[in-house]
Amino acid sequence: MAKPWTQSPQGPQSPQTRTPGRTGPRVRLFGRDDPARTPSAHSVAVIGLGRFGQSLALELMAEDVQVLGIDEREEVVQSLDGQLTHVVRADATDEAVLRQLSVPDCDRVVIAIGSDIEASILVASLLLRFEVEGIWAKAVSDAHGLVLQQLGIPHVVFPEKDMGRKVAHMVSGSVQDYVEVDKGFAVVRTAVPHRFVGRALGDSGIRREHGVTVSSVKHEGQEWEPATADTVLAAGDTLLVTGPTRQAERFGRLA
Ligand code: ATP
Repeated sequence: MAKPWTQSPQGPQSPQTRTPGRTGPRVRLFGRDDPARTPSAHSVAVIGLGRFGQSLALELMAEDVQVLGIDEREEVVQSLDGQLTHVVRADATDEAVLRQLSVPDCDRVVIAIGSDIEASILVASLLLRFEVEGIWAKAVSDAHGLVLQQLGIPHVVFPEKDMGRKVAHMVSGSVQDYVEVDKGFAVVRTAVPHRFVGRALGDSGIRREHGVTVSSVKHEGQEWEPATADTVLAAGDTLLVTGPTRQAERFGRLA
């Protein structure tokens, strides 16, 4: 099997690979058949290192994931030199390049190319042909997302749209934080509504009357703790509330 990290570029289409911080014999880090690999030691290829791709790749690195970053822009690759497991300047629409980099062997691949929709779709179709199991793709519009979904990409994300909606909930002042974990179901962080101060959750009627569940509570100056029926709410508490989106939002507005 190809060992892209050990190969020097050959020919005009060879990707320029950088293996920051490595000395001595190079070993292949990416592959499902690596006996040393534990279930949590995922390898992820991030294709396209714009703001979204970079932020994602660096966060994965912080979680001890092995990250192969690919971008066609030299300055981007240079700026990430030493910060990812491997960072490569290459055109990801080139099937031979992706194979040479062992992208098909990565546990997961993220297509973080947005504005060049043609490139995004070409890469998506190549990855589907490689039968990569976990493919995530960023969409910049509903139409882009629809095409990716119709192609068969299992995870299509809309970062700008999702962040816009999230910020709207925070700007409107109803909640401190908001995540729609599934369509129509959300987790919100909110202050404790005044009317529940001094009451135990079990007697508060919150679930019955508002259709939401308080799952965790943070008393002022303390750490988060799981909520129980005996948890007594105090002024200054912060709550994590789960439930149907509209009800969770409505509950947040009580605060
Ligand atoms: P962001 O909002 O994340 O900054 P963007 O929408 O402004 O992204 P995009 O056009 O999505 O920018 O490009 C993201 C990155 O993908 C860029 O750094 C770009 O160089 C890279 N890219 C685009 N096409 C390819 C390709 N065919 N091969 C490799 N990288 C590519």
